[in-house]
Amino acid sequence: MNFEFSAEQSLFADQVRRFALAHLAKDALQRAHDPRFPFEVAQLMSAQKLMGITLSEADGGQGGTLMDAIIAIEQIAAACPRSADVVQFGNFGPIRTFAEYGTSAQKARWLPELLAGRMVLSLGMTEPDAGSAVTDLATSARPDGSSYIINGTKVFSTFSPDAAIFLIYVRYGPGLGGIGSVIVERGTGGFANSRPSSFMSGEQWCELNFENCRIPAENVLLGPGGFKKQMSSFNVERLGNAARALAFGRYAYNAARDYAATREQFGRPLCEFQGLQWKFAEMAIKLEGAQLLLYRAAANADRGLPSAYETAVAKAACNQAGFEVASESVQVMGALGYSQESLVEYCMRRTRGWMIAGGSIEMLKNRIAEHVFDRRFDQRKRHADAAE
Ligand SMILES: Cc1cc2nc3c(=O)[nH]c(=O)nc-3n(C[C@H](O)[C@H](O)[C@H](O)COP(=O)(O)OP(=O)(O)OC[C@H]3O[C@@H](n4cnc5c(N)ncnc54)[C@H](O)[C@@H]3O)c2cc1C
Repeated sequence: MNFEFSAEQSLFADQVRRFALAHLAKDALQRAHDPRFPFEVAQLMSAQKLMGITLSEADGGQGGTLMDAIIAIEQIAAACPRSADVVQFGNFGPIRTFAEYGTSAQKARWLPELLAGRMVLSLGMTEPDAGSAVTDLATSARPDGSSYIINGTKVFSTFSPDAAIFLIYVRYGPGLGGIGSVIVERGTGGFANSRPSSFMSGEQWCELNFENCRIPAENVLLGPGGFKKQMSSFNVERLGNAARALAFGRYAYNAARDYAATREQFGRPLCEFQGLQWKFAEMAIKLEGAQLLLYRAAANADRGLPSAYETAVAKAACNQAGFEVASESVQVMGALGYSQESLVEYCMRRTRGWMIAGGSIEMLKNRIAEHVFDRRFDQRKRHADAAE
């Protein structure tokens, strides 16, 4: 067992760090407070070959590993936290599901624009009555000649105000086996976006409304029975959320450490007070423990999809560590940490969201408990007659 990066990984980390410091660090504060998708960053990253790191070269990607993509998130976030969202978009988000299961015609049509950073794809999974219970989704896709007719509503989709195409989870028929997904383009008749709403993080989302929205059959990504495939590639998205949570926690920690080393009260630097030293020791333990779990899940996946269990453990650990460390960093920096003069409060708001998004901490713990007891715990209410 080896806990060091390989020579190739160290070289890659160093290249990404130098790129991020040269091109992204300067405007990091302003970018964090701009809800718009940073297309200019996506195009810079595309030129730097940081989009599609794990996609095959045949698909226009780099043929790298999941671990490479995690290294990219870490290095970019250390210079500009908001820009790490672009690494997520180009490597971990719905683009990964799309590249995994799209037909060659679908990929030829949309992947080049997505990987060039000129187009955004947004994921529509959650509905007003189907959040954690995602298999309760009701958005329907009904065949009609050579088309499908989509009806339903999606909420909370990241990047939805800026997206040109949407990967929408739909129901072709009843039950788990009836679920699959389609691609819908902005501007399709019967598809409307509401005015944007904001999350606590400042990110914006629109409600996506489909009313007899007709799409061509060529836009089907996964037909009935596609749910399990969607969820296994969604584990990649979860690892990207985990990596950003940890990287944002580390960003806040580094800022708080530098502050504590120089800020003086009572005639001494803050770092000389034991009450603060122990906070840093606790933060270091949380960050390093979660990082090993993240690396395990990514390294074991290599060029494939990560295990559901290892992903759940890594995401829960990184989400908790990232938020707790960012929050403690705000405390260490006092009013300055709480102010928008620094990015520490931003890191705290962002890490809070990942405890809910992409599988809440509670749902991840449910998954982990199933592994512990080696049995499935059905979360659904039992019908009175079934329980008898
Ligand atoms: C920042 C952010 C970005 C997002 N981006 C997207 C996106 O791009 N696309 C998309 O489709 N959706 C997105 N979402 C929505 C996200 O997937 C849902 O918020 C998530 O699945 C939880 O659903 P809910 O918010 O409806 O909460 P609910 O499911 O209503 O849950 C409420 C609370 O109850 C807990 N709970 C529910 N069931 C159980 C149970 N069985 N056991 C224990 N606790 C339980 C939950 O953990 C939570 O704390 C995003 C959300 C956030 C916050």
